[in-house]
Amino acid sequence: MENQSKTLGKYSFGVGDRFSHQAQAQLSAFQKAKEQGVQITPVWNKSYREHNIISSNPRETRRQADLAIEKLRWDTPYFVDADHVTFDSVDFFLDSSDFFTLDVADYIGKSTLDENIHSFVEKHKRYVGEMEIPGISEKFIVDIKRLEQIAQSYLKAVEEAGRTYRKIQASKGSDQFVVEVSMDETDKPQTPLEIFFILSGLAGENIPVDTLAPKFSGRFNKGVDYVGDLDLFRKEFEQDLAVIQYAIKEFSLPEGLKLSVHSGSDKFSLYPIIKEVIQSNNAGLHIKTAGTTWLEELIGLALAGGEGLEIAQKIYHNSVQRFDELCGPYASVIDIDKLNLPSAETVNSWDGEFFTRALRHDQSCQDYNQDLRQLLHVGYKVAAEMKDQYYPALDKYADTIAEQVSENIYDRHMKPLFL
Ligand SMILES: [Zn+2]
Repeated sequence: MENQSKTLGKYSFGVGDRFSHQAQAQLSAFQKAKEQGVQITPVWNKSYREHNIISSNPRETRRQADLAIEKLRWDTPYFVDADHVTFDSVDFFLDSSDFFTLDVADYIGKSTLDENIHSFVEKHKRYVGEMEIPGISEKFIVDIKRLEQIAQSYLKAVEEAGRTYRKIQASKGSDQFVVEVSMDETDKPQTPLEIFFILSGLAGENIPVDTLAPKFSGRFNKGVDYVGDLDLFRKEFEQDLAVIQYAIKEFSLPEGLKLSVHSGSDKFSLYPIIKEVIQSNNAGLHIKTAGTTWLEELIGLALAGGEGLEIAQKIYHNSVQRFDELCGPYASVIDIDKLNLPSAETVNSWDGEFFTRALRHDQSCQDYNQDLRQLLHVGYKVAAEMKDQYYPALDKYADTIAEQVSENIYDRHMKPLFL
């Protein structure tokens, strides 16, 4: 099924479906929002890293998305996102995706040709002095040195985005896909001024960028709440929105260009801030989650009891044993206090209700354990290896799981963000 239009719309929401079993349950949350009068475009995102760890492929993501769309008669746009792709990994996704997240974080700070730096600085000389951005009260001081620094930090990344974009364009044709540029997987947040010049660079590469995923201050650990200064986040988020509006006009970027928040799932304390700021600015938003759905699969299995609970316990057992191996690739986006992890024996003694209370992201519940939650978040590799047991269990307990998956997306994410 083809999208009638490749327009992302004002609000869009990325859901990850690691084991390709929950597309319908996820879509039913979007349907509920639609019934409440809020149109949110569904995007199924899966990164190269996830495909690699699970040994899955984007064709399956596309197939499950199309099936869900057909079954639930979804008649507005939807997308399949090649999440965090590079020039080299993008080929894998070309046939199946119509949303591409160009991850150029590895090129930040890498050097490019001196003449490119020079012409970038020349091109932006008109901004030298005290720069005012509508909607931001503080003034930004721009001088030649600052422009050079920005070019040295970001120009190579911008050029790499251009190279990757042109590869996709050559394969799929212009206007046939959504483009996101992501710079979130890096240590240092980009300042509003940097974002402004990065957007100019992307316009210079002729990339019709739909969404930009910057790195925000604070920690976005996987599957758990935000750790950082909420007031600082609000200020940063507001300023980034203002910069985007200004850049759209200055560099003739697409009217619908919006921020993308790679949330790492479940940044509940940020949701009310994001909601308030986007509503008062009449701004759009793309938000990405992924692992939160896989954790709901585990909760559904645990709640189902019997073999379902045993599988959930076994996954925890193996995850504890393989702690270093599982956490390694995610070191910069998890913070697990090992001393707070229950032993596998303890978890084996839990019933489904207790397992659920420990894992479910309800900070008001005293049994909730964010260390266990983060470990299980990265434990999907274990489930993938148990596929002969895991996949049949997903089918056997499909109803209980679907209820958890759908409720989670709608009640804990969409409602506080959009409704
Ligand atoms: Zn990201």
